Amino acid sequence: MKIAIIGAGASGLMLATLLQKNNIDYDIFNKDLKIGSKIKASGNGRCNISNVNFSLEAYHNNKLSKIVENNQKLLFDYFKELKIYTKSDDEGRMYPISENSQSVLDILFKHMKPKITLETIENINKNDKGYYLNDKKYGPYDKVVLAIGSPAGIKKYYYELFDSLELPINPFYPSLVGFKTKLKIKDISGVRAKANTYLYYKDNLIHEEKGEVIFKDDGISGIVIMNQSSYYNYLKGYNNVKIVLDLLDKDYDCLDSVLAPKILKYIKEKNIDPHNFTIPISDTYDLEFAQVAKGGISIKDLNENLSLKKDNNIYAIGEVLDIDGVCGGYNLMNAFCDAIEVYKDLKNEISNKWF
Ligand SMILES: Cc1cc2nc3c(=O)[nH]c(=O)nc-3n(C[C@H](O)[C@H](O)[C@H](O)COP(=O)(O)OP(=O)(O)OC[C@H]3O[C@@H](n4cnc5c(N)ncnc54)[C@H](O)[C@@H]3O)c2cc1C
Repeated sequence: MKIAIIGAGASGLMLATLLQKNNIDYDIFNKDLKIGSKIKASGNGRCNISNVNFSLEAYHNNKLSKIVENNQKLLFDYFKELKIYTKSDDEGRMYPISENSQSVLDILFKHMKPKITLETIENINKNDKGYYLNDKKYGPYDKVVLAIGSPAGIKKYYYELFDSLELPINPFYPSLVGFKTKLKIKDISGVRAKANTYLYYKDNLIHEEKGEVIFKDDGISGIVIMNQSSYYNYLKGYNNVKIVLDLLDKDYDCLDSVLAPKILKYIKEKNIDPHNFTIPISDTYDLEFAQVAKGGISIKDLNENLSLKKDNNIYAIGEVLDIDGVCGGYNLMNAFCDAIEVYKDLKNEISNKWF
């Protein structure tokens, strides 16, 4: 059996190591030299590789997140086998002990074929011998795995592959990204403030979360706001969305040492209640600035083993699927667990053995 893996990011690299370990033949392709670049960027370069916790609420597609639930333990065992030793913080975010993404990438590279073919794959065709990529330049393969990620955080995304497979996808929207605000907040640009944040749609509370808000010239950001943005996506197309900030954890008789001077001046001048600083949202920042994307291949087009219903020799893993998680390692964990799920299926086909 020979497999083509399209995409050498988190999910594709993880799958390559698993196939390598079991002597399953494969080729892996990446469109450019930016191999594993989102693993590198994760956790601000410290590599927020996964999260020790699992909850369905950490993901916006409960059905697909079952794959994470089923494979999380196998993943953590596999980290140990690869000698990726980890530590976690109070919120369960896991990092390699080195707190350096490159060490994780180096370990993955060490456990796979040295050759990654640098080529953008734009079409997949099949005949009675198997599957061919880019007008028969590569192939034949028995199976193809789409591990091409999403358009989040990059400049150009290749939709041609979906067209060549005649595979409809749910449109991509930015998630884990800042909000553009209707309110003029330039005066407090650069200020950081701890707050309870409430996302409202038409006066209905959608999500509440505490954290640090970062004010920008034309918007707000920070991990808590990025998490709020992942809920906003599900209101897409609607107006009337606002974020309400409660800047105080309790009442004080004087706020001079409680709030940063710039924000104190701003709320005094505008007569804003610090428990109820209301910021109407105009949109999120663009996909290019997002960490992940909502959208992609829909669960209705997938079999349980992540193969496509329209062709069960073609699989899809990672962020190309319509699943997105909140901040904290959940998205990389999803990409890695999807790779394990597909590997188990391929391995089953060969020998009915796992690990
Ligand atoms: C700035 C930033 C910070 C992040 N931080 C975290 C974090 O701290 N924790 C966390 O869990 N997640 C984080 N994420 C998200 C996480 O990195 C992604 O969810 C994860 O990398 C997705 O894995 P993937 O394999 O699906 O896609 P990717 O890792 O994006 O890999 C896809 C690969 O496919 C290649 N490709 C695409 N199209 C083609 C084609 N047609 N032909 C050939 N190759 C192609 C791409 O070049 C890329 O290398 C972050 C993302 C960004 C952008």
